Amino acid sequence: MRVKLAGFNIDADILRRLESGRRRHLTPETLSAAYARISRSPLAVDRLRRQACRDVEKARRSNQKIIFAMGHHSVAEHAVFNFDIMGVSRLALEEIERFRLASYTEKSQRYVTLAGDLVLPAEIRSAALKKTFRAVVQQQNRLYFKGFALLNRRLQQQHAKTAQSAVGQRLVEGWAKEDARYILSLATSGQVGMTVNARTLEHMLRRWRLSPRQEVRQLGEKLLALVLPVAPSIILFPEPSAFDRDAFSPLNEFFAAFPAAANRRAGTGPRIVSFTENGDDRILAAHVCSHRGLEFPRALAMVKKIAPARKRLLFKEFFKKVEFFSAMPREFEMADITFQATVSASSFAQLKRHRMATLLAGDYLPELGNTLPASLREIGLAGEFAEIIAATNDAYSLLREAAGSAADYILTNSHRRRVLMKMNLREIYHFVRLRDDEHAQWDIRELAHGLAEKVRRIMPLSAMMLCGKSRFHEAYGNIYSSPPPGALPE
Ligand SMILES: Cc1cc2nc3c(=O)[nH]c(=O)nc-3n(C[C@H](O)[C@H](O)[C@H](O)COP(=O)(O)OP(=O)(O)OC[C@H]3O[C@@H](n4cnc5c(N)ncnc54)[C@H](O)[C@@H]3O)c2cc1C
Repeated sequence: MRVKLAGFNIDADILRRLESGRRRHLTPETLSAAYARISRSPLAVDRLRRQACRDVEKARRSNQKIIFAMGHHSVAEHAVFNFDIMGVSRLALEEIERFRLASYTEKSQRYVTLAGDLVLPAEIRSAALKKTFRAVVQQQNRLYFKGFALLNRRLQQQHAKTAQSAVGQRLVEGWAKEDARYILSLATSGQVGMTVNARTLEHMLRRWRLSPRQEVRQLGEKLLALVLPVAPSIILFPEPSAFDRDAFSPLNEFFAAFPAAANRRAGTGPRIVSFTENGDDRILAAHVCSHRGLEFPRALAMVKKIAPARKRLLFKEFFKKVEFFSAMPREFEMADITFQATVSASSFAQLKRHRMATLLAGDYLPELGNTLPASLREIGLAGEFAEIIAATNDAYSLLREAAGSAADYILTNSHRRRVLMKMNLREIYHFVRLRDDEHAQWDIRELAHGLAEKVRRIMPLSAMMLCGKSRFHEAYGNIYSSPPPGALPE
């Protein structure tokens, strides 16, 4: 066996400091080109790589041929880019982070400072509308500062012990910010560090060119302009196809006559709309299938015949050594759960980060109501909150007429949208472990908690250990009447 470290991503500032004569070689395209040749060349891959580095222009031509002419797009995945994306709106971040095969880290909403960070959408052109937009955002921001100050004072008193140290004080401040920000607009700016391979980047660029938001379209052009000089051979299809553009148009026309999405305030909790029947059996059967080499229908028929008590025992044995961080095996992907929920923008910001899922989100709609944190109600700000939401919704109607979907920028973290989400049980375990946990933010925690309760009912055996990290010991103890093995969660 021979293994070599073939590459790793390096800060672009360091690369720029390297001598300019070598800069033309500093491209991830050589990796893609070398790996693309593996399938047909008799040479060892490290030699292919050396060849690609010696003649970058040839490597580029090879990339273009293999990706473009042969349609072997996966080779573009070997070229990886990192982007610092700064000063983008919360709304744009939603479009940026909707891609599953990329990595993101963004500023925590707990640390939003609001130091002049607002994105005024270019679609809002008239001076009068700009004035309205700014005036409403100012009202929202004023209530944010007021809410933060009151909440912070109260929480610092309530958690005086934690707040004894500077670190503790900042932690408590974070809790206050977390709830106060429900009144902040989606125009509030943020930043994200994004790592993405060339294939996904190309897909992003195609999608962003179709975005109704100029901010997002502009971002796509900026990223393309940054990548092309470094790796000209690897982004070949940044233009949306006719299918990308128009596939849904006839459907949308047809469904235009149907009732509008949200004409009443719906319950917000998750509602399971479909799931894999006999999920427990299918998970067991999937294992039997691969372990014993059986055909799936036969394995399933066998599993169905096992007495329920015996099956429970089998799952109990299976989970016996589970620890709070254990990942469920692939067999758990055989059971799907699709749910619908009405979530606040704040909850959505967290939900969308779970990439091993299918997430379809409707528009933010004032008709769906707003999520008011209990803490803001407790400090007597419910009335002011409602007044500002009313002003926001009025401005939204005005902006909607003049600037279409750019009106969304004025909506707040408390505004809601309906989501339809499908996850398999493996991802649900991961999601619930992180989000139905005492460290999780309360809004998404409620969603995860409600979902976990329902999933445990429909898959009582395979979901018997489904719980937040902080409840793991209790859940384990309930089943085994003994503490779990391994380390304790922090
Ligand atoms: C309490 C809390 C605080 C947080 N604070 C912040 C914050 O301040 N800033 C911030 O940006 N995010 C924050 N997050 C979000 C967090 O970093 C994750 O992005 C989010 O929880 C999604 O989970 P996940 O990354 O494990 O993966 P999911 O997308 O849910 O995927 C499930 C699993 O698939 C695998 N996987 C998925 N994609 C990849 C990949 N590209 N490469 C390798 N493995 C992959 C991993 O094993 C992963 O655990 C916070 C989350 C929590 C719970």
